[in-house]
Amino acid sequence: MAKKLSLEEVKELAISKGYKPLFKDYKNNKQKLLLETKEGYKVLGCYDKMAHRNAKPSAFGNGNPYTIENIKLWLKRNNKPFKLISTEYKNNSEKLTLSCPIHGEFRMSWTVVQRGSNCPKCAIGKLKKDRKLKIEDVKSEFIKRGFKPLFDKYNNNKEVLKYKDRKGYKYQTSVCNLRYGKEQHKFSPNNPYSYENILLWFSKNQPNYKFTSKEFIGTHEKYNFECHKGHRFNMTLKDFIHGEQRCPICARKLKHGDGGYNTTKAERNKKEWLKLKVKVYIIECWNYEEHFYKIGITRNLLKKRFSGEIMPYDYKILDTVNTNLYDAIYLEKELHEKNRKFQYKPKIWFRGHTECFSKLYNKELEVP
Ligand SMILES: [Zn+2]
Ligand SMILES: [Zn+2]
Repeated sequence: MAKKLSLEEVKELAISKGYKPLFKDYKNNKQKLLLETKEGYKVLGCYDKMAHRNAKPSAFGNGNPYTIENIKLWLKRNNKPFKLISTEYKNNSEKLTLSCPIHGEFRMSWTVVQRGSNCPKCAIGKLKKDRKLKIEDVKSEFIKRGFKPLFDKYNNNKEVLKYKDRKGYKYQTSVCNLRYGKEQHKFSPNNPYSYENILLWFSKNQPNYKFTSKEFIGTHEKYNFECHKGHRFNMTLKDFIHGEQRCPICARKLKHGDGGYNTTKAERNKKEWLKLKVKVYIIECWNYEEHFYKIGITRNLLKKRFSGEIMPYDYKILDTVNTNLYDAIYLEKELHEKNRKFQYKPKIWFRGHTECFSKLYNKELEVP
């Protein structure tokens, strides 16, 4: 049997193991001695375990009566803003009552606290803070959607930001709405750049027209326009954008010109028109996606009839017949009616675009 150690000898051993001895007496090697770790936690250890085993007494646990005190110290050492309210420790999964200086009491087990968790309400706030994106991240949100950011500052995800699309139209939206896919229309009362966008749209798509109104209210409102011939007219923006015929004055002139013959007019002008030499023609038209035929009348040579911008498709003359305008009108009418069920509406508007067909019964003209 080992000889009884003195209090001093046991204290020395405790010190040699890294503890500060807080015990005042020593009875035997199984006696629980109060020690303080380097970190300041109070633990109980016996001489036997200290001297012969490397087992370290736990600072936190139901076997340690100083656990509550140690937890308080741990919170301090780990700079936790909350305090421990519970005065009793049962085990590491039992919830303790803690108190946040901002949000008040909350309950959490020691295991969870030790893992580094904070007051749940504070945690949500921190998450939100983390969610506050950096300017580069915000910009990339726009860039990956094909937009060009037009801002250099960012405060929060509800803030309205300015951006451009690939075609140069401007918009504004928040990061939140962008993520929800709520994108603005280029012409819309809630897009402050609508007016600018309209002018851009005209320069790109309708260079022959001018938008002469000074402000934009909505696409269903009427605005002033001017055609390249200087005719002024007004219509809704919607009608203008989707319309086939814009300037009504130019439209009227077209009807009375080459494109709009009808039998009523033929009868009215019979005497005169019987003497007027014209051509009835069939042409085949196409571009990379469309293919159709057109039957019509022209007073000019066909090359002149379809020159420049007037005929936006490639075409080939299939047949022509020389006749007078009066007969031509009836011939054209007959051919149109014969092929009525093949009637085709080309995607690009041009003069006489209502006289087009996807197929024809006969690609040659028969003179009656
Ligand atoms: Zn809190
Ligand atoms: Zn006009």
